[in-house]
Amino acid sequence: MDVGMTIGGRVTRGAATLPVENPAWAKEFARAPAASAQDVDRAVDAAVAAFPGWSALSFAERAQLLRDCRTLLHRHVDELARLLTLEQGKPLADARGEATLAADWFGHTAALALPSEDLVNEPGALVSMEHVPYGAVAAVAPSNFPLILAVTKVAPALLAGNTVVLKPSEVTPLASLRMTELLGEVLPAGVCNSLCGGPATGAALTEHPEIGLVSFTGSVPAGRAIARSAADNFKRVVLELGGNDACLVLPGADVTAIAPRIFAAAMVNNGQFCAAIKRIYVPAPDADQLTSALADLAAAARLGDGLLTGTEYGPLVSRAQLDRATALVAEARAAGARVFPGSRTPDLPGHFLTPTVVTGLPRGTRLEAEEQFAPVLPVFAYDTVEEAVGRANGTEFGLGGSVWGDEEHAVSVATGLDCGTVWINTHGALRAEAPFGGYRSSGMGTEYGYWGLLEYARIKVRNIARP
Ligand code: NAD
Repeated sequence: MDVGMTIGGRVTRGAATLPVENPAWAKEFARAPAASAQDVDRAVDAAVAAFPGWSALSFAERAQLLRDCRTLLHRHVDELARLLTLEQGKPLADARGEATLAADWFGHTAALALPSEDLVNEPGALVSMEHVPYGAVAAVAPSNFPLILAVTKVAPALLAGNTVVLKPSEVTPLASLRMTELLGEVLPAGVCNSLCGGPATGAALTEHPEIGLVSFTGSVPAGRAIARSAADNFKRVVLELGGNDACLVLPGADVTAIAPRIFAAAMVNNGQFCAAIKRIYVPAPDADQLTSALADLAAAARLGDGLLTGTEYGPLVSRAQLDRATALVAEARAAGARVFPGSRTPDLPGHFLTPTVVTGLPRGTRLEAEEQFAPVLPVFAYDTVEEAVGRANGTEFGLGGSVWGDEEHAVSVATGLDCGTVWINTHGALRAEAPFGGYRSSGMGTEYGYWGLLEYARIKVRNIARP
């Protein structure tokens, strides 16, 4: 695997390397370049140098180049998908879906507009506003959906006229580094650069004084560290952080019918999805029926190497993630919960955790309060809808939540959920047209669509006096 960092239009291998593991085999399968402090400076310098030329292009010219990126990436979906499966573990069909969506996102973004507006047009004055870019943007991405969560930053940042330095997760860097190499066939040198490294590289990039805006997706502690360092010089930040989304099943809902959809929404990407269902609240009389339907679905799950046909769920992305999830289940068991482990884990040395349903948890356990980011699904029985809404809102997170049952009742209950997106009779459905962002510890700012594009531009007012 010979993938490099793209800096100023040149692909560079770096002086040192980092191991990249295949999580299905718990074995290193490639090495990625490790950025030095000088590489970070060079990448930011390249983005800063490319900014005047890129921002001087018209919006329509940049949109056309994004459409060219879409076409180019479509030709490389299979190559990118294979890299994603190897480094992230997800089944190849899902990886192909992610790579295709990443390509398409350039097209969705190119269709957006940031028009200038005349605010006052009268005999004595013409006051107008326009959207102007920040300059060099740092885009820092996580390990669960490496490609699409990089592109949802890179594409709007570029369209608004910024240049970018992308740092993918050190756990899953290869598909994103390769994508940036490919984008260099379309974009001018320095417009989209990439670095590879861990938290120290991320911190050096996001703290760099020449970076005008940081767009980050990842965990709450890393987001907090970035927000703190950005405060020193009021650097703009967009933070998409963790979620602990509640799924609230209403009295009267057909639990047997909805169980497969709830299970699927909890197990997306093996539970490693910010907006997966992370907790279920169900009326006490329905709790056993729902738990048993979910446990049956868990028992039928087919785990394996994502490259093999028939695999529904791959491994977790890292040993650390597996250890944390295993500890949460052990704590739940020790607290008196009933644990329904799903199907057998495959006979592979990787980081496999079978979908696991947990019920009978007392209040206040970590599995209710924290984000598990794994295929472990706690089910809580409730007595009143008010109690369930209170518990749904009772964590530090506020990314999403869903209500299932009669639509009118569900819509009215959903108004009480304190989170950025509420879903009714579905969960986790994200769309290019709809803004997405979290409340409280789930983040600051918005991504996707027009509102996401707005984050990458400042407002400039022009006030002309006509005496
Ligand atoms: P992570 O925070 O460990 O790493 C994310 C990225 O941040 C990596 O590139 C890492 O190298 C970098 N990083 C870590 N510390 C940093 C620092 N101090 N300064 C700069 N960069 C730093 O997250 P992860 O394990 O890759 O992803 C999982 C987390 O991401 C979960 O909490 C999940 O909910 C969240 N997530 C949120 C969304 C959303 O849209 N809200 C989407 C996907 C994932």
